[in-house]
Amino acid sequence: MTLSESGTEPSKVNIPTGPDGDELQEYLMLDTINKWVEQEVAPVAMELEHGDIYPEKLVEQMKELGLFGAIIPTEYGGLGLSASLYAKIVERIARCWMSITGIFNSHLIMAAAVLRFGTDAQKQHWLPRFASGELRGGLALTEPDCGTDLQAIRTRAVREGDHYIINGTKTWISNGIYGQVFALLVKTDLDADPRHKGTSLFIAEKGDGFTVSRKLEKLGYHGIDSAELVFEDYAVPAENLIGGKEGFGLKQALGGLELGRINVAARGVGIARASLDEAIKYSQLRKTFGKPICEHQAIQIKLADMATRVEAATLLVEKAAAAYDRGGRCDMEAGMAKLFASEAAIENSLESMRIHGGYGYSKEFPVERYYRDAPLLAIGEGTNEIQRIIIARQLIERNPV
Ligand SMILES: Cc1cc2nc3c(=O)[nH]c(=O)nc-3n(C[C@H](O)[C@H](O)[C@H](O)COP(=O)(O)OP(=O)(O)OC[C@H]3O[C@@H](n4cnc5c(N)ncnc54)[C@H](O)[C@@H]3O)c2cc1C
Repeated sequence: MTLSESGTEPSKVNIPTGPDGDELQEYLMLDTINKWVEQEVAPVAMELEHGDIYPEKLVEQMKELGLFGAIIPTEYGGLGLSASLYAKIVERIARCWMSITGIFNSHLIMAAAVLRFGTDAQKQHWLPRFASGELRGGLALTEPDCGTDLQAIRTRAVREGDHYIINGTKTWISNGIYGQVFALLVKTDLDADPRHKGTSLFIAEKGDGFTVSRKLEKLGYHGIDSAELVFEDYAVPAENLIGGKEGFGLKQALGGLELGRINVAARGVGIARASLDEAIKYSQLRKTFGKPICEHQAIQIKLADMATRVEAATLLVEKAAAAYDRGGRCDMEAGMAKLFASEAAIENSLESMRIHGGYGYSKEFPVERYYRDAPLLAIGEGTNEIQRIIIARQLIERNPV
């Protein structure tokens, strides 16, 4: 059951699955993840992150753990986890090294789009291969000229017989280099009004005309590849159009982002908690003026605020994940969780750095990594400015006078 009962090489691992809400199953799964994180991820995280090295061995282990199929139903070979349990797993991993959660999360947003909007044939064809990790990838929405305003995308798909010919550029695509397949947002009708009705979402597998033009260098979030993808007369079979109908691309892409936002929020909790844990530890060891700094009220106030943020963010993530699991719309809940938890991660990482004094700025401590990773959470899966707009719109919609 555990990753490695003995020795360093992980044995074949299957996370035990069971009915939702089964506390024992949940405990066993989180225990498996905890052991994997402690035994396999923690010893290499610092070195791989500083070197911006893709964690190939960890990816193989993630396949064995079933993480690439975490939320894919068991009938397609996945683990069929609830969003609630999935969020806890993400939080636990992000507490150690956030980047590797992106390797399976972007992939699962792609899978969620097929799961929610794909035809039966598409589900049968793609989901088992996504679940096993045999085919991995992510979501290709953003372009050099637009990220928030996705209706303005310029990547174009034109139908020719039983294929579509795609031309355009996507940027910032997570897993762009090591992934093989992407949910690709394109324009199929330039004149559609409203503009979103001119968008469609395809499953695009790498091949002729689909190239990686460059790896993008980043402040943090190292280890996972972010890339620019170029499509030049790339022919994708018409049967790869998700749902089989043009005009629903933006809706399908944004539908998958609800899960993505819960995941980002869970990552935020992970970083906020790790920053707090490091601060609690360090503040008891470091002495100034004859006593541990945790006995200075200025430090205690910081610790109290940090811990309160962690608890509040945790509850918001739980609430959003529970709403997702119940089905129906949960963009307000996911937006609130993402907004609060990502800001908590940013604030806690900075406060932890302050508590660490000069050592907080050192690459020998993990705090500088949390500080570099956290800001991404305010950008990805919809910026925090946009989350506020989503929340406000939902407030009005749900409370008409
Ligand atoms: C490390 C990393 C990984 C990423 N991974 C992926 C990926 O896998 N797939 C993918 O498709 N994309 C990915 N992205 C792109 C990311 O989703 C976009 O950067 C993000 O959506 C913001 O888009 P933008 O950068 O074009 O900013 P813009 O849309 O240009 O926004 C610039 C600023 O204006 C604000 N703004 C924009 N419109 C409004 C408005 N109406 N009201 C108020 N404020 C507004 C924004 O909040 C932001 O502050 C990634 C980005 C990074 C940095």
